[in-house]
Amino acid sequence: MAGRSKAEKLYDDWNQQRHSHWQKSPAIRNVFPGVEAVRINLTFDDLEKIGNPQPKQLTFGPEQKAFFHIACPFRECVRGGFDLGPEVLDVVRAQATLARGEQVCQGWENPERFGEHRCWLRARYEIQIKYGNTTFAPTLAFVPIAG
Ligand SMILES: [Zn+2]
Repeated sequence: MAGRSKAEKLYDDWNQQRHSHWQKSPAIRNVFPGVEAVRINLTFDDLEKIGNPQPKQLTFGPEQKAFFHIACPFRECVRGGFDLGPEVLDVVRAQATLARGEQVCQGWENPERFGEHRCWLRARYEIQIKYGNTTFAPTLAFVPIAG
């Protein structure tokens, strides 16, 4: 019982923190004028377990919050996720339409292993930005091989 309520507290605290961060984030149109949409494609690569979580695609419009912290797809993971905010900022500052990279989840595997064992789920991400009348850049998966 005590363990369960401790676990719930860990999740609740984190969710509240995330939520208040989300609330304080301005709208995309205010931070990134001229940006019509931000799309984030994610694939996951779990080195320790069998099977990877489903890929994700998220699209944000100008009215939505400029908050790009993606929750870890592992339900048990504590304080995990992928903060792509700085990456999105870099892409828009460079007026680029496409960037990709990877991040490893720094959350804890589950409440029982809090403080002991990290999640380490790897996310490969692709950020696509649509400006004004442009369209999304093709995802790298569809870029034809030169020659
Ligand atoms: Zn995680």
